Amino acid sequence: MIKKMKGLLLFFTLPLCLISCRASLYKETRLSMSTLVTVLVSAVAEPDWQELFSGAENEAALFDHRLPGSPLKELNDGRSPELPVELIKVLRLAMEIAEQSDGAFDPTILPLISLWNFDSGGELPHEEEILAARNMVDYRLVKIDAQGAVELPSCYGFDLGGIAKGAVVDQIAAYLNEEGYENFLIDAGGDILLSGLKRGKEPWSIGIRHPRSRDKLIGLLPLGGAGESRAVVTSGDYERYFEYGGKRYHHILDPRSGYPAESSISVTVIAATCARADGLATAVFVLGPDQGLELLEGLPGVEGMIIAEGMPGSREYLIRTTSAFPLTAEELDRAAEEMHSPEGRETN
Ligand code: ADP
Ligand code: MG
Repeated sequence: MIKKMKGLLLFFTLPLCLISCRASLYKETRLSMSTLVTVLVSAVAEPDWQELFSGAENEAALFDHRLPGSPLKELNDGRSPELPVELIKVLRLAMEIAEQSDGAFDPTILPLISLWNFDSGGELPHEEEILAARNMVDYRLVKIDAQGAVELPSCYGFDLGGIAKGAVVDQIAAYLNEEGYENFLIDAGGDILLSGLKRGKEPWSIGIRHPRSRDKLIGLLPLGGAGESRAVVTSGDYERYFEYGGKRYHHILDPRSGYPAESSISVTVIAATCARADGLATAVFVLGPDQGLELLEGLPGVEGMIIAEGMPGSREYLIRTTSAFPLTAEELDRAAEEMHSPEGRETN
């Protein structure tokens, strides 16, 4: 009887083993959306990288307000172009996150972002210019009807930079799913989506970068499971910034002040889709630890970690997380201790 059972087991496990034992880990890194995008796939056959990355480029173009002739630029220029469904979907999600965060995330941030000119290295605008631009930023004045027609006041403009990269990562994941891939990880400069398991058998390990020390990690998040997919996005004040008069000016703006948000230095959000995690990370960055955590705790299936300065401008840091964020209390204590140690400081 036992022999028979063994035979049965062998019969069932052999085909499974043949599939997973033949699977390899394929990896491709390319420059896309001004960042390095890495895709790792555990599978028996290598994906068509050219098709995958050109699909991603086409999707990114839909969300780019700088691109002449793009639907978003047309919309910003006061015309009424036919909008692709993908763009309508991202605009609706952006509006939802704007509402949830009471405008801390605002997709109509373009007049302010243009003033700061981060695309060309950044410059400090005059205060009167900021005051004037602030009056042209307000998601509440945008209307999207049931058919997806969008109304935007004149002088207003969409900038989807806080959510577009995540949306493109979701599109790459959808492409891989359509092609039959189940186990993969996509990393677009800190916007990560993982699906299934690494090599079909172990969780993916996601490193969260120390915001003040490029080569150090705050922790490693073990994420993934058969048939599951999760997105992990980190927004930090170290990604795009310039310094002036000893002060750091970075690219996440508080729409209420028009200046870079100061209440966080790094925010990590885990959510079901990368676009949602991306938008929420930007929103929570602006809201800061108290309001940010309150927002995340109220959203089902969403977790997050916020790193902030103990006092503005101080070199004491605090790390706070939602209740089910996947780092243990010891790991968080160790990370907090390391942040205060001399080698954990300002080595960007
Ligand atoms: P990164 O692109 O570095 O991953 P984010 O996802 O936080 O970082 O996006 C930053 C971008 O989001 C900015 O370059 C700008 O285009 C846009 N942005 C800045 N502040 C806001 C805001 N308060 N609400 C919505 N979008 C913003
Ligand atoms: Mg974002």
